[in-house]
Amino acid sequence: MNYRDTMNVNKKGHLQIGGVDAVDLVNKYGTPLYVMDESYIRSVCRAFRETVEKTYGEGGVAYASKAFSCKAIYEIAMQENMYIDVVSGGEIYTANSVGFDMKKAYFHGNNKLISEIKLALNVGVGTFVVDSFDEIDLLDSVCAENGIVQKVLIRVNPGVEAHTHSFIQTAKVDSKFGFGVKNGYADEAIDKILGKNNLRFAGLHCHIGSQIFDKQAFALAVDVVTDYVVRLKERGVVVDELNFGGGFGVYYSGDDPKYDVKEYCDYVALLTSSLKNAVEKKGIKKPFFMIEPGRSIVGEAGVTLYSVGAIKEIKGIRKYLAIDGGMTDNIRPALYDAKYDAVLANRANEKATEVVSVAGKCCESGDIILKDIALPAAKRGDIVAVFTTGAYNYSMSSNYNRNFVPPVVFVKDGKSAYAVKPQTYEDLVRNDVSLEYKD
Ligand SMILES: *Cc1c(COP(=O)(O)O)cnc(C)c1O
Repeated sequence: MNYRDTMNVNKKGHLQIGGVDAVDLVNKYGTPLYVMDESYIRSVCRAFRETVEKTYGEGGVAYASKAFSCKAIYEIAMQENMYIDVVSGGEIYTANSVGFDMKKAYFHGNNKLISEIKLALNVGVGTFVVDSFDEIDLLDSVCAENGIVQKVLIRVNPGVEAHTHSFIQTAKVDSKFGFGVKNGYADEAIDKILGKNNLRFAGLHCHIGSQIFDKQAFALAVDVVTDYVVRLKERGVVVDELNFGGGFGVYYSGDDPKYDVKEYCDYVALLTSSLKNAVEKKGIKKPFFMIEPGRSIVGEAGVTLYSVGAIKEIKGIRKYLAIDGGMTDNIRPALYDAKYDAVLANRANEKATEVVSVAGKCCESGDIILKDIALPAAKRGDIVAVFTTGAYNYSMSSNYNRNFVPPVVFVKDGKSAYAVKPQTYEDLVRNDVSLEYKD
């Protein structure tokens, strides 16, 4: 765990988040429960924005809302003067429903549906990040029908691929995302856009990966993309905006670096300084600068609380603690072997005395949330707190086995409030109907 001023262990030895005792949260809301630390989210938003302002100037920070999407988070993004990145009609609808200024939305996706394009135009989404030749034709024709000239970026594939602790520069052209810079597809896409009456080409977008710790990967992306801007300039194409996506790594477990908010800003500062240098050195127009972090804004803000139920020991092999949630609220361990850190929230000061695995309650052998985690000897009713579950947990949740998706509670200054209410059995059957064939 990466403790901070808004997440620590209180005098009772209980985990405390946003000034609220986790045991009190469990007594009030039950388990499983997603808890989000509002002050932390706001502090990251502010720090990122201020870093862009101080180190670069003209630019913005878009919250990549696929990481965690619900009405409350768009309200917070709005209050924090953030832009947002949206990837579906559902995200657009949710943001728009709380009055988010959709001019500040970037609409991504490799297969935007016609219905989603229409919704986006209808609510005035500011920027489309175009990702296929097909989309260029489709978007232009829908814009023409509606008398709109739409600002667009194209998503480019710069051939920089970053993973957690390393990156590679590839000539890899096999990706479902982006137009290749090296194979000429990006040139072709831009020419096509410039030939359309209802599209206005504004610049380039790239996103080189996720959970990246090697900051140099971002500097390399800036270098490759600005080289391309130089080539575009030679062809008479003006680039007003560059968007470098998201991907900043956060602490989950083990050797992951434990950054505080200031250190997260180093990612941003490296991007802006690389871009400023490139602008000077390469003699290009200083572009509007955008980034789109998701995980680094909400990831560490989230903690999931579970109750320990059945305990099963296979002598000499493994002890399983079963919890009342699992892959329905956190698919990441099953999906990509993601590792987490955890404590017993009601005994957070106690020494770990055994290594156990924490299993979910779903009917899947792979439904293991924590493999080999050191904890104090747990009993039924103890509370397991899993850290860094704010990103890609709730947003990837499901009702598999007809389990409930847990409610989401925000905490701040010693208070708590629902952001997403609990589901009921009635919710689970809401759209179910008895078969009634009609000819
Ligand atoms: C997922 C994604 C992001 C956010 O990535 P994080 O790793 O959560 O910061 C930003 N931009 C695009 C285009 C994405 O697909």
